[in-house]
Amino acid sequence: MSIYTCPHCGEKSFNPLSKALAGQLNSKGKPCPKCGRRCVNGKGATIFNAVYCLLAFAAVIFTYLKAPDIPWLGYWELIIVPGLLISMLIVPKLVNAFFFKMEQAIKAGY
Ligand SMILES: [Zn+2]
Repeated sequence: MSIYTCPHCGEKSFNPLSKALAGQLNSKGKPCPKCGRRCVNGKGATIFNAVYCLLAFAAVIFTYLKAPDIPWLGYWELIIVPGLLISMLIVPKLVNAFFFKMEQAIKAGY
């Protein structure tokens, strides 16, 4: 089964862009173009994104705290910290677009 398959009607109705924009389990999801029922990125994507953001956030704190002690890190801090913050926005979207299956949206009625 393709990761772009709608969990409601079984049609391969999503593409990387619409899947990336469908959000996580805790979002209201995106309606399937075929059947109109809402789909989200499933547990795998949600857990991955949570872990990734946690690690990236820890890396930001680590860089911030350690930069004064480590000469090369002090130089790279200006690139690493914004890079990590931007990656926290982009990486989950990329992962949503290309990995993990879609699931039915739990939050209904929006
Ligand atoms: Zn559908």
